[in-house]
Amino acid sequence: MENIEQSCIFCSIIAGDVPGEVVYHDDQVVAIKDANPQAPVHVLLIPREHNLESLNDASKLDVSLLGHLLYTAAKVANQMDIAESGYRVVINNAEAAGQSVPHLHVHVLGGRHLAWPPG
Ligand code: 5GP
Ligand code: ZN
Repeated sequence: MENIEQSCIFCSIIAGDVPGEVVYHDDQVVAIKDANPQAPVHVLLIPREHNLESLNDASKLDVSLLGHLLYTAAKVANQMDIAESGYRVVINNAEAAGQSVPHLHVHVLGGRHLAWPPG
């Protein structure tokens, strides 16, 4: 019987069923290189648990995880050597923002000039 985790590409990567280039992991999140990078450095921070499809699902109970994601974004930016030059942290939420995978994730982008406003 297929459940959400089995049909979710990010859950499959975290479970090791689908390959992913892991650059960082801890007890709460896994960071992988994006398969279709939009910048020289493009990492996705993915919570291990598939309980939030997007920020829209977040409640007060998730405040610690959300804080951990931002803290980890800075840590990964440092590890990937883009902290000093500059980087962007992005969460696409729902359709108009172009969210394509309904498992909350944070993009960390850098290694080139990033235009503002974003597209
Ligand atoms: P979203 O558009 O939902 O904010 O971001 C989803 C991201 O996941 C996209 O940037 C896309 O390139 C990436 N992605 C989708 N499938 C895979 C995959 O199988 N492996 C990896 N590493 N990235 C993926
Ligand atoms: Zn998932």
